[in-house]
Amino acid sequence: MFIVIEGIDGTGKSTQAKRLAEYLEAKGQTVVSSFEPTDGPWGTLLRNSAETGRLSPEEELETFIKDRREHVSKKIAPALAQGKIVILDRYYFSTMAYQGARGFDPTEIRKKNEAFAPVPDLLLILDLDLDKALSRIGGRGAGTNEFERRENLSRCREIFLSLASESFVRIIDTDKSPDEVTESIIAALPTSTCG
Ligand code: C5P
Repeated sequence: MFIVIEGIDGTGKSTQAKRLAEYLEAKGQTVVSSFEPTDGPWGTLLRNSAETGRLSPEEELETFIKDRREHVSKKIAPALAQGKIVILDRYYFSTMAYQGARGFDPTEIRKKNEAFAPVPDLLLILDLDLDKALSRIGGRGAGTNEFERRENLSRCREIFLSLASESFVRIIDTDKSPDEVTESIIAALPTSTCG
């Protein structure tokens, strides 16, 4: 079972990914938790570029893909082959959203990724109104001016929400307490997973 958690900054992805892993482990499942960008060489380059200067749009997109190729081959595919539950905090839907907001066609990005990256069984998109998300993140990641930042996140949110009608996608409203969000996530799990 392959579960991906996505959403714009400020929606609480990392907290909820951790809680979901704890919940499933308590049910006796073996869980492999991971995140993107990874802590491998390409992912580290991407994370460092937030401080050292952002890569060009083309270089950035290619680096996300290189990072993901390694992630899929070294961690995701082997864990899935062993029947484990894989939970990811960000995956190629973030590339569709963030690099889509940087000017690439999200559909093209998706095709490029799905040529090698497995499609999750469940994609949880954590959603929140833009003003609330911006107020939750405060100064975090404020590399650009407020207007650019708002425009950018707004486009990312639009791209995430454009996936809403797909069969494996659930939109999770995060305008509530962390416990309530966790409950909504658990309610979205297929019955075979939650034991
Ligand atoms: O998931 P995390 O909060 O660590 O992501 C850090 C930042 O990386 C996000 O705020 C986002 O701006 C950026 N990012 C990106 N493109 C992606 C994924 C994340 O620009 N594909």
